[in-house]
Amino acid sequence: MNVGQTLNSYINGEFADSGKYFDNTNPVDGSLICKVSEASREQVDQAVKSARVALKSEWGAMSVQDRAALLHRVADRMAEREAEFISAEIADTGKPLATVKTIDIPRGTANFRFFADLVRYQGEESFRTTTPTGENALNYTVSKPLGVVAVISPWNLPLLLSTWKIAPALACGNTVILKPSEETPSTATLLAEVMHEVGVPAGVFSVVHGFGPDSAGEFLTSHDQVDAVTFTGESGTGSRIMQAVAPTVKPISFELGGKNAAVVFADCDLEEAIAGVARSTFTNCGQVCLCTERVYVERPVFERFVAGLKEKAEALCIGRPYDEGVSMGPLVSKGHQQKVMSYFEIARQEGATFVTGGGVPSFNDDRDQGAFIEPTILCDLGDQARFNREEVFGPVCHVSPFDTEAEVVERVNDTVYGLAACIWTQDLDRAHRVAPQIETGIVWVNTWYLRDLRTPFGGMRLSGIGREGGQHSLAFYSEPTNICIKLK
Ligand code: NAD
Repeated sequence: MNVGQTLNSYINGEFADSGKYFDNTNPVDGSLICKVSEASREQVDQAVKSARVALKSEWGAMSVQDRAALLHRVADRMAEREAEFISAEIADTGKPLATVKTIDIPRGTANFRFFADLVRYQGEESFRTTTPTGENALNYTVSKPLGVVAVISPWNLPLLLSTWKIAPALACGNTVILKPSEETPSTATLLAEVMHEVGVPAGVFSVVHGFGPDSAGEFLTSHDQVDAVTFTGESGTGSRIMQAVAPTVKPISFELGGKNAAVVFADCDLEEAIAGVARSTFTNCGQVCLCTERVYVERPVFERFVAGLKEKAEALCIGRPYDEGVSMGPLVSKGHQQKVMSYFEIARQEGATFVTGGGVPSFNDDRDQGAFIEPTILCDLGDQARFNREEVFGPVCHVSPFDTEAEVVERVNDTVYGLAACIWTQDLDRAHRVAPQIETGIVWVNTWYLRDLRTPFGGMRLSGIGREGGQHSLAFYSEPTNICIKLK
């Protein structure tokens, strides 16, 4: 894939132009990366038809071992073309090279290897049954694919988050249609090339480019021949997708937004907590669903914590992805920059104190056309302030003091979201006591974003429906049939 070339959708094993295009721009300086051909309703329909045909063809008949081997070949080829994936992801997102090289791309590749291995050693349940009336039977379960799975993915970790769903869906024998974010179409297109190169049969994996409403996203989710929808994105979008799938009652898996809290107890290792919260707030410009936006600090260490976090924020080096020492790039787009800035304005009107940041950095070069924003720390807002209740998805957190454990648990849980939380304490009893009381899908103690692909991942309330990861993914992407054989 050459930068500057038009990106086409990949349907039934071929790249296809629709004749209608949108721009893919670089958030570092607003320049045009390439045009992207927006899939038409007819093209989405073709993708679904070919995915249905593929279910009954070579792919449907393939053994689990062969499927797993093919997914390893996908990972091998991705690794061979790693440099292209890295530069494509950087062009779309503006992320620093070090981040993309160590997280986005290798973890995308690892998703294929992990689920290929997991599915290979998967067993199935069986039960010997004796009923109260003395009948005997053997019950066993056969796992089948769900069918055609639509994967709708966001822009914040484009390859990593889409492959987190594509890999288990394919491992379980489904066919997949990916609708990547309109902001980040490049690595999805490269992935289609890789699938093609390693011989994934036509129709097994398709990519349809476009937007959500009245575009590829909606055409897919409302399609009556799509069997399941797995989505990562905003909670409001999740709600709209839920309405779109309702008439055909499709299974859904939703990984949605968050308003994640960090709790810093006075007994913590303060230096570690400051460094940890700086990481959980500012990584990827705060554009990770797991990022911290609310920080509660026990009063005796509050002032020291805020001073330490300010120092960390001000030490971050904002700049171009390939420049030495850069730790923070731009936000994904000018549109998102405006959204984050609008929350700074809301916070100002609500009476926030800006400890640091709150604006757009000035470079006096082409980066001033980019989507950069200053790392920002706020204080002095109440828990009911809009800033403390709505997801901002930028490099910003609000810090407030607390006095008791019971109080902070109640305040952390007082949210419509429930994705992730961090607790910083050296008191083991406290860690075990507080962690299960936090109403989120994941609680980290003295760390953040330490992931094991086997663990359940997801959120409660507006943060999602269901869990993915390890067995949880295999359970979602397959349909169990119970076979009951009467024994004499
Ligand atoms: P988004 O909801 O705007 O878009 C996500 C995807 O949905 C895009 O591909 C978009 O085109 C598509 N889409 C939009 N409207 C649609 C519709 N009506 N029908 C079908 N598809 C539609 O989200 P985003 O801005 O790309 O990503 C940021 C959001 O994602 C944040 O809220 C973040 O918290 C969330 N997120 C959650 C997780 C998680 O695991 N819980 C992970 C990453 C991001």
